[in-house]
Amino acid sequence: MFRKRKITPLVGDFVKFKIDSQNKGYIKEIELRKNELSRPPVANIDQAIIVSSAAEPSFSQLLLDRFLIAVEANRIEPIILISKIDLIDETELNKLLNVKKTYEKIGYPTLFVSIKQPDTIEKVRPFLRHKISVIAGQSGVGKSSILNSLDKSLQIATGEISKSLGRGRHTTRHVELLHVSDGLVADTPGFSSLEFTELEVEELGHCFPEIRKVSKNCRFRGCLHDQEPHCAVKEAVENNEICNRRYEHYIKILEEIKSRKPRY
Ligand code: GDP
Ligand code: ZN
Repeated sequence: MFRKRKITPLVGDFVKFKIDSQNKGYIKEIELRKNELSRPPVANIDQAIIVSSAAEPSFSQLLLDRFLIAVEANRIEPIILISKIDLIDETELNKLLNVKKTYEKIGYPTLFVSIKQPDTIEKVRPFLRHKISVIAGQSGVGKSSILNSLDKSLQIATGEISKSLGRGRHTTRHVELLHVSDGLVADTPGFSSLEFTELEVEELGHCFPEIRKVSKNCRFRGCLHDQEPHCAVKEAVENNEICNRRYEHYIKILEEIKSRKPRY
């Protein structure tokens, strides 16, 4: 019995349950979780849809990388949506096309979307099928709008004002999985804290697939790819195999983790 093991059922759990004659039932067993988030409290998440807007708020690759690290640290697969592309001009679009290429080379599906361009939203749909997803991204990037576009019956409040008039969706720990396009999506955005209080320096490189891949060739075990000589990661940055900006963000966050107060 799961009660004895002090496990509380979570939204997203797969369970075995028994139904009695009155069509009432009880949970007999909770299956082993592949992962579990505390904010929102959901288990067995397959993927995180990270939304980063091209404008309003302006695009931040550092913030995108922070979300990616948080997602990777939880062993969840990310897909990246660069939203509001209707708001930018040709020059900006070309810059973001390079960003898109960078992330696709790493292995992350990266899509340009706009709620004003229904064909771009349609391209998101196949990614949701038969999966449990959590949506993440800074406030105002269009997360609710994108979900509403995928399923017109959702009608989630959008925009700052209407959200603050809502019933405090963000203050409650109650979470629901919404049916969106043959998949399930948590109704509360994930990864609100991006301070990485749980992450150790040695783990950070594992949250960057391209660093993870080449770090096997570093001379020293436990190389942090910072000051060490014969570092395969630094070589890959010099050869442009690893995006310089990604590496800069790695070092920046490495410093943050190092300067974090020790935990007792
Ligand atoms: P959330 O906080 O991430 O859920 O963002 P919302 O979905 O509430 O959107 C914030 C604001 O951006 C709202 O006023 C939306 O109408 C607007 N918005 C969302 N997506 C787009 C888009 O693709 N293009 C434009 N121009 N505005 C958008
Ligand atoms: Zn190294």
